[in-house]
Order: sequence, then C-alpha cells, then structure tokens
Amino acid sequence: MARRKKIYEGKAKTLFEGPEPGTLVQYFKDDATAFNAAKHEVIEGKGVLNNLISEHFMIGLNQIGVSTHFLKRINMREQLVKEVEIIPLEIIVRNFAAGSFTKRLAITEGTTLPRPIVEFSLKNDSLNDPLVPEEYITAFNWASHQEIDDIVALALRVNDFISGVLYGVQIKLIDFKIEVGRIFDDDSQRLVLADEISPDSCRLWDLSTDRKLDKDVFRQDLGDLRDAYTEVANRLGVIPKINVGSEKPTLVK
Ligand code: C5P
Repeated sequence: MARRKKIYEGKAKTLFEGPEPGTLVQYFKDDATAFNAAKHEVIEGKGVLNNLISEHFMIGLNQIGVSTHFLKRINMREQLVKEVEIIPLEIIVRNFAAGSFTKRLAITEGTTLPRPIVEFSLKNDSLNDPLVPEEYITAFNWASHQEIDDIVALALRVNDFISGVLYGVQIKLIDFKIEVGRIFDDDSQRLVLADEISPDSCRLWDLSTDRKLDKDVFRQDLGDLRDAYTEVANRLGVIPKINVGSEKPTLVK
C-alpha cells in the first residue's frame, strides 16, 4: 500500500500531502510536550480530543466569515486543510495574565488585562520562540506592516469568537496562540488562520472555580490531562459516542 508523503512533523501534529493539490492532511498526535519538549509524554486520546475541539472552533470561525485553513474532518485523528505558507510567528492573545506574561512583568496570574494584548514570538525552537517586536518582523521580512495589521485584526476576531463560545460553556479564555498562513489565489494573496485551536494552544479556566482545563495541567503536574481535555470537549458537545482512548491512527493508503 502506498504511503502518503509526510510534509512536516511537529511536536503534536504531522502534515501529509493531501488528496488534491493545495491540500494537506493534518494528523493530531497523542504526544504532549512542554518547556520546548524538555517534558514529553504520550497521552492516549489527546490527539482525538484536540482534533474534535479544533474542528468545532474552525467550523464556527468559517461560518462567521473568518477564513481558516480547515476544510473538513476526515476521521478521529485527521483533518483536511488548505496548504498555506506559514508566517514564522506565533501570535499570542492574552485576556488575563498567565504563563510567560506573569513572569516577564511580575503580574499576578489571573489579573484581568486592560484590553486584549496581542504579541508575537518567532517560531524557532532552538531560540525558545523569543518574543519579537514589529520592528524585527518587518526588518527581516517575516511579515509586512499590512500583514501585521491584518493578523492583529484576525487574532482579535478569533479572540472574541472563541471567548464567547467558551463563555457559553462556563470556561474563561485566559490566552491562546494562533498561527497564520498565506494562500495564493492567482495573483492575489490572503491570510488565513492555520494550525489548531485546542487546549494545547489555549489557557482555559473554569469560569466559577478557575480550575485549569488546558496544557498547564501537564506543564504544572496538576492532574490528568486527558480528563481536563475531555471535560472541555464534553462541555462543547463535540465527543461522538465512542471511547476516545481506543482510537488508533488511520492506516495511510
Ligand atoms: O507561555 P506563554 O504564556 O507565552 O503562552 C501563551 C499562550 O500561548 C498559552 O495559551 C500557550 O499554551 C500558548 N503557546 C503555544 N505554543 C507555544 C507557546 C505558547 O500554544 N509554543
């Protein structure tokens, strides 16, 4: 049986060549990593949960007119996505202080920020994804001024939408990371949301108790990561009636 061509393997996902030109298959792995992969575990079923949760947000974003790379979910582990040219930045939106922000500015975790703060890190594991100012981004041609404006507008729209969806299930969106890609149609070029939106890339707290329901459970050894992600998926109503733990990768043709 012919194997699909692997295009890229990241820490939590693998990209394969898609069935049509301009498409890719995005496979969600069970690997959980933190501190730039210094901490690593395989959490059975995590990939399935992230696939379902990310699908839910991407479908909603597409429906409200925010362009994403998402085309359809293929199975419990895989999505068909549009091939994009990834902008080499991690775009982080923060509503409340947490993580590296609390350390950098000595602000108490959970403090409400005066407004959503958008920041950029360079996607570079060997440098530990350093925070970069706009000056660096334009000087090194990672993105243009216009693209930065468009990315900020996109990130804030994603923030408003997913904050609202999560609020509806009693979850507070503390912060999240997105990636953005370029799509080239004939002579024109546009930006779309890429990658994933899942508890791997967001901080999610229970609205009334502030209990953590995201990757900080793994980073900080707060309990069972799969339970936390399952709770998010259940609250969002995205789990079909199957045992996620038994889901195995689909064999490639
Ligand atoms: O660590 P930091 O506070 O900067 O992370 C901000 C947000 O971005 C968190 O939700 C975190 O999960 C996410 N993030 C990510 N991938 C990274 C860095 C941060 O998904 N490489």
